[in-house]
Amino acid sequence: MSQEKMWKEMAEDAKPFWGLGYDFDPQWVLTDSQKQLQTRLIEACAETLRPNAVKSDTGLIYPRLNFEKLAELGLLSLLVPKEMGGLGENHVCAAMVVETIARYGCPSTAMCYTMHLGAVASLLFRAAYNPTFVTLLERLDRDVLIGTLSYSDPETGSHFWYPVSSRAERDGEGWKISKKASWTTSAGFADFYVVQTTSPDFKGNYSDLSCFLVLKEEVQAEPHKWDAMGLRGNQSGTLEVDAVILPASRIVGPIGDGVISNDEIVDPFFLLCSSSCWNGIAMGAIDIAKMQTTRKKHVDVGMRVADYPTIQDYVGEAIMTTNACRIYSFSMGRLMDDLTNNCDWSLHDDIVATPRAAYLHWYWQIKFMAAKNVAEVCDKMLHACGGTGYKKDLGIERYLRDGKAGWVMGPTNEVLRQFVGKLALLGIDSLDYWNQHVNDRVVHNETKKMDTGQKRALAEKLMAEACAEEATYSAAV
Ligand SMILES: Cc1cc2nc3c(=O)[nH]c(=O)nc-3n(C[C@H](O)[C@H](O)[C@H](O)COP(=O)(O)OP(=O)(O)OC[C@H]3O[C@@H](n4cnc5c(N)ncnc54)[C@H](O)[C@@H]3O)c2cc1C
Repeated sequence: MSQEKMWKEMAEDAKPFWGLGYDFDPQWVLTDSQKQLQTRLIEACAETLRPNAVKSDTGLIYPRLNFEKLAELGLLSLLVPKEMGGLGENHVCAAMVVETIARYGCPSTAMCYTMHLGAVASLLFRAAYNPTFVTLLERLDRDVLIGTLSYSDPETGSHFWYPVSSRAERDGEGWKISKKASWTTSAGFADFYVVQTTSPDFKGNYSDLSCFLVLKEEVQAEPHKWDAMGLRGNQSGTLEVDAVILPASRIVGPIGDGVISNDEIVDPFFLLCSSSCWNGIAMGAIDIAKMQTTRKKHVDVGMRVADYPTIQDYVGEAIMTTNACRIYSFSMGRLMDDLTNNCDWSLHDDIVATPRAAYLHWYWQIKFMAAKNVAEVCDKMLHACGGTGYKKDLGIERYLRDGKAGWVMGPTNEVLRQFVGKLALLGIDSLDYWNQHVNDRVVHNETKKMDTGQKRALAEKLMAEACAEEATYSAAV
């Protein structure tokens, strides 16, 4: 591998890259073959993905052409085992690929690719029991099949684990699926969707969740309504699956596997890869700032912008905080590799094996830090580039807008810092994802404020509710 990072745009000779070199990248986390893959991917970014990123941003164009380029490199089946025709790569490599696409190529593509990897991983998790998934996974690169995850519900916002508007019912040998999603990356453009609903036989417990594989022709999307501040090629619009009948083989894992699938696969992969997307955007902004500030001169004082200590401080701090986030994310990728014998999917032949899930609160932390950092770094890099950075031509304002998605994407940073703080202080039950655990201290505090009449009125209301529930229960049994 060349020690110098090269950059070759269409019909040009390769030149040294105008941003930061490998000496600021944690290359030691990669194997030699992963470094070679990274070099080829940087070339593809320079020639194809980056020019298309501008078109996606201005024209709200879905980056399918970029996915075709990724498929040429075998990257749609990055995680698919070699025996199934994939690259059989590991978690660290997934983090590197997403970061590289976001940094040198196209952040929208990096986010669509993150969701693709999440969907692929959730099928690989249960492929040992499902030949339909194997057939699909073997075709990813050959047929440029793009996957995504459809979880967020219009009624519960960023609490994407709470699908109140979706349900699944048994229908003969198969399933009748109704899903309403408020956001789905690649909605209407993806070829397959992993959707989460309540389980068939759902009885009111929202932790009873199941996942299903749904194909392009079975969904309704509204891409014409998509218009957003950044990640404009991402096309994260609404999605509906309207009482569609699916064959039995389309359930992902056993009935009720949703929570396990979330904790073991969807959250770890989404949080690792989306963190890498934010880290890549932050590095991309630093690269542009280096190019601009080292080229722009002020003739009056004979200095380049990069010669001012203020600008050096901006860049120095941005590199340090971003590399802290990168090392943090790669370290979680390395942990996931260690836990899974280098991402060996055969360990899930044992249906109860969930090695990644125990570290959920660590994945939360990397996403919080990366999403917080990218907004701060892009903001400061734009300042470093002055008014030129504020204009579209330089491209840094696009990175700033793209990076803003990090904080608001679920689990949002407000939710994540509270999850981590609550977990540390009060324990796992206090998180109460599905609104099931009564907080006695809050109840006690509120009732303490009531006078005798208010207490009596509340008691009578609760007694009436309890009697009505008992009557419903007796009628049912
Ligand atoms: C670019 C992009 C791509 C996306 N792609 C996908 C996708 O592929 N699949 C998918 O399923 N979803 C996707 N989403 C949806 C995303 O995960 C969130 O569900 C969505 O951003 C939530 O938006 P909302 O308006 O409903 O926020 P709201 O839930 O209404 O949040 C509003 C505010 O309330 C805060 N808040 C919410 N709950 C709490 C709480 N418990 N404690 C404290 N504060 C709280 C939030 O942090 C936020 O500040 C995507 C979102 C974006 C921006």
